[in-house]
Amino acid sequence: MIDIHSHILPGVDDGAQAIEESIKMAEAAVADGIETIVATPHHKNGSYDNFKHNVLLQVEELNRTFQERNVRLEVLPGQETRIYGEMIGGLEKEEILAINNNTNYVFVEFPSNAVPRYATQLFFDLQVAGYQPIIVHPERNKQLIGDPDLLYSFVKRGSFTQLTAGSVCGHFGKKIKKFSEQLIEANLAHLIATDAHNDSTRGFCLTEAYSEIRSNFGLDYVYMFSENAEDVVAGDVLAAEPPEHVKKGKILGIFNR
Ligand code: FE
Repeated sequence: MIDIHSHILPGVDDGAQAIEESIKMAEAAVADGIETIVATPHHKNGSYDNFKHNVLLQVEELNRTFQERNVRLEVLPGQETRIYGEMIGGLEKEEILAINNNTNYVFVEFPSNAVPRYATQLFFDLQVAGYQPIIVHPERNKQLIGDPDLLYSFVKRGSFTQLTAGSVCGHFGKKIKKFSEQLIEANLAHLIATDAHNDSTRGFCLTEAYSEIRSNFGLDYVYMFSENAEDVVAGDVLAAEPPEHVKKGKILGIFNR
């Protein structure tokens, strides 16, 4: 399997703090059935900046270490950029890194409580510039939980979304699990990834997430999500069914539970 979102690079953000932790994470990833992992350190989130040039060098170094230590996990470069007004400039200045460097897929993270008003215009500008935004973990964003139509509008206009495996498995609570399922049901989810930060509390459960999806939605969805992950790193076109609105009554149900 391919995991397109992880904080496995050592000492660059709130993920692995040192190389030994990266190795532990890699072993946990391999045990979960992951062969290829995209390192997506935080960028512009107020606490961490990880510029393209450094990410590329650090990924190379991590791959070398894994080879020396006999860890069978391939690491690809990526970045998790917190949305900011000058993202196009960041891409032009080669500060921002697309997934696997040579694709057009760019991770965009919202602040956990809100979605900036300029997001719609920024996504449009990104697309005009030739990039395809992937909104990471929308299921954990307070504003989107309260207003899933906003996410619908982004997807309708061509953005993709990536759910966290742990959300699907219920590690972030029942509400977020339920909301994740509603997003899948409404064709508002295109990718599943671990967003692993360590090998324990924020670890790997991609196999479990896929088996959860298989029992709730069927094997076709598992294929779609796993093939989309392959297509992201290959820079190929992603499969996406027409998005639907999350039903209002169902959303109220979340808060009543
Ligand atoms: Fe992340």
